[in-house]
Amino acid sequence: MTKLLHYVDNAIYAGQSTETAAVFNPSKGEISAEVVLGNAADVDVAVASSKAAWPAWSKMPVLRRVRILDRFKSILWERMDELATVISNEHGKTFEDAKGEVTRGLEVVEFAVGMPHLLKGEFSENVGSSVDSQMIRQSLGVVVGITPFNFPVMVPMWMFPIALATGNTFILKPSGRVPTAALIMAEWLTEAGLPKGVFNVVQGDRDAVNALLNHPDVKAFSFVGSTPVAKYIHETASKNGKRVQALGGAKNHMIIMPDADLDMAANALMGAAFGSAGERCMAISVAVPVTDAVADALIEKLIPKIKALNIGPSLAKTSEMGPLITKEHLEKVSNYIETGVKEGAKLLVDGREFKQSSAGYENGYYIGGSLFDHTKADMVSYLEEIFGPVLSIVRTQSYDEAVDIIHGHEYANGCAIFTRDGDTARAFAQDIEVGMVGVNVPIPVPMAFHSFGGWKASMFGDHHMHGMEGVRFYTRLKTTTIRWPNGQRQDAQFAMPTLG
Ligand code: NAD
Repeated sequence: MTKLLHYVDNAIYAGQSTETAAVFNPSKGEISAEVVLGNAADVDVAVASSKAAWPAWSKMPVLRRVRILDRFKSILWERMDELATVISNEHGKTFEDAKGEVTRGLEVVEFAVGMPHLLKGEFSENVGSSVDSQMIRQSLGVVVGITPFNFPVMVPMWMFPIALATGNTFILKPSGRVPTAALIMAEWLTEAGLPKGVFNVVQGDRDAVNALLNHPDVKAFSFVGSTPVAKYIHETASKNGKRVQALGGAKNHMIIMPDADLDMAANALMGAAFGSAGERCMAISVAVPVTDAVADALIEKLIPKIKALNIGPSLAKTSEMGPLITKEHLEKVSNYIETGVKEGAKLLVDGREFKQSSAGYENGYYIGGSLFDHTKADMVSYLEEIFGPVLSIVRTQSYDEAVDIIHGHEYANGCAIFTRDGDTARAFAQDIEVGMVGVNVPIPVPMAFHSFGGWKASMFGDHHMHGMEGVRFYTRLKTTTIRWPNGQRQDAQFAMPTLG
């Protein structure tokens, strides 16, 4: 049985903890490896390594730092299929979807390679007589990324390319369900020339995270995962005086106006609700048609498409949707469907009826796509994040009612409107209280040079991830006021210095 370990000082590190957890191949429903679960002693070793590496790394010319990232980027392009296969095996998303994930992560590396320009400071001459002033951004030190199971490569890459380019050393604590990709990225960074200790990986769960949160030498936390854990990380890291950005769960709505292109909207919903088996924080899980006529027409288009979904092993070329991550998650999603039925929502397509019959994959964690109609805003199956291939329709009779539905939900990660009307689209984009908005775009994930983040219970902290927000998060400002003696006598000044 393969045992997946930590990565410290550019080498695999066995650590001291003997505790392990099983890693599964969800397409087959069988154990593929075991991962070690790090403890406080393992965290101490990783942090000491990262702390020792920081002075030289932070002082290395930024051009040299980004040249290493540039080489890493080339390796990613060359070996993308290898990484995508690992993601597909451990997560269960299709190979093409996994390649898309690697590409979106790689784009952050491309952004980070431009760091010499972004780190240029500001300078003002003669802010006083013979006095100049400069403002620069400096790295924080040892920073930590804690990431979820659903994007084993992209989400870590929202963080570490920018953290490293700005001069920090980085410890990645990946999800224990998908631990291999982190080790591969660490090896490729080493191959690209990254000095020892600049990028370390600590495997583990709650104990490792708590040890990191309480470690005095860790300066900042980037977290992506479920809302209860995001809240806990934000509160604990803040209490311990650390900088923190913590992205949480989601329930994303898509409004379909009567003037929308309904075929376009139906196709968009299929990809956004059922792609990656709904295990995306930007998945659309609630469709909000405006008027019953739109709801009926949309349902007529959706039902045959959902029934025709090609569900199969993640690496099968024909699969449009793979399995869920674990048996427990499959049960959780099935239970939410049952809850929806009991609450009175009308189940039009029941994904629980799906059975995988491909030889060797019968025990995989598969479920078909489900469609609910007449979901109401007070139902548990509406209020909570299901994180599976379940689309609920909440019928509304006006644009204002649809917007009120969105505003009534505690999550505010992403949302979309489908319409041909510019006035409506503009009003929506301006007024909606959600962090990421799509106009005729169902999954409005910002590009690497913009920034990713939700509002309300979908994010805790001030800085969104990547883009300039990432640069701001991983650096702190220093302003230096400079005077050179120019022969003029300076008497002691007791009043606040001003230009007079
Ligand atoms: P999770 O919260 O269970 O785990 C996330 C990370 O936190 C993992 O590394 C895990 O090991 C660690 N962790 C789990 N429980 C912990 C605890 N009690 N104390 C300390 N650390 C703990 O999330 P998940 O199931 O891996 O991922 C799915 C969730 O992530 C969904 O809610 C999804 O919406 C969210 N997500 C959000 C975004 C976003 O950008 N907002 C992106 C991707 C996923």
